[in-house]
Amino acid sequence: MPGQAEIFKQVASAINSASSIAVCAHVDPDGDAIGSTLGLMHLLRSCGKNATPLLASGSHPPLTYAALPGAEELRPSAGAGGFDLFVALDSPDPARLGDARELALATPTLVVIDHHPDNKRYGAINLVDPDSAATGEMIWELAPYLGCTPDASVSACLFTALMTDTGRFSYSNTTPAVFRHAAEMVEAGANVSDLFRQVFESRTPGALALVALTMSRLTFANSGRVAYSWIDADDFANTGALPEETETLIDEIRVIIGVDAVALLKASHDSVRVSLRAKTGFDVGLVARTLGGGGHAAAAGFTRGGTIESVLGELLPHLPSAS
Ligand code: 5GP
Ligand code: MN
Repeated sequence: MPGQAEIFKQVASAINSASSIAVCAHVDPDGDAIGSTLGLMHLLRSCGKNATPLLASGSHPPLTYAALPGAEELRPSAGAGGFDLFVALDSPDPARLGDARELALATPTLVVIDHHPDNKRYGAINLVDPDSAATGEMIWELAPYLGCTPDASVSACLFTALMTDTGRFSYSNTTPAVFRHAAEMVEAGANVSDLFRQVFESRTPGALALVALTMSRLTFANSGRVAYSWIDADDFANTGALPEETETLIDEIRVIIGVDAVALLKASHDSVRVSLRAKTGFDVGLVARTLGGGGHAAAAGFTRGGTIESVLGELLPHLPSAS
């Protein structure tokens, strides 16, 4: 098996020999997905490459990330084509590429860059590092292999990826390397307070109303070792919150003392999307995989057919309980 440096070189070589490159992350993009996509786009362009940023779902970036440099260039993957290289980011399996799945698999060369431990290595080249805090951090490490110096736009996007996937530099993935890379990004032009304000202090009144509703439904289960809440489609109409404004909703619940795991269930007409977070070392990634999803030990998710009640019935027995 080639060492990690060798794989970085292979990725750089694939990029250098490509003439038209698609860059795309997972459905329902979060800060690492959008930050990695735009960060790599800017990096490739600074090396003189033709790079197109695609969305795996939806037609526009989430409002939270709309102010990132280049966000206006993100376009739906439907109808896009003519690429000789597709770079899949932060997506452990092709299904996570949503609308872009077919395009990714049909493009002559597929490169996968990801930090999920359950990555299926579905590319021709797979740069996978579960020790990386964010896919954006891996792109930062790729820059020297491409021989280009990241500018302020690259730095702003990749700092956003790192800031969000580490929970503002607080989760257990916040290694010394994360701080070193973050410092390099700031030196290269990432503006910490601007990015922090854009990402964490730019919520709509509707989003706050949705937080209030979510908190009002907080429920304890499994003898108090699990806390969960839920939202459904009507809640968006009733509060005015946008569907994309739920990324940090689970963070409101995870602050609660004394639980091992928290869950947020989001119901749509016939399925429920579940976000899981572990607080005390329990592996929610394993639970998510058992129920058809995936993720990290401390943060994972899955989507399941059914109602809030039926999905809770399947989920809770897999989470910690007193007995
Ligand atoms: P979130 O709860 O923020 O949507 O997701 C938490 C983590 O779990 C992220 O790393 C995300 O990539 C992963 N994840 C969420 N849903 C799924 C899923 O359906 N499949 C897989 N493989 N990973 C997921
Ligand atoms: Mn990530």
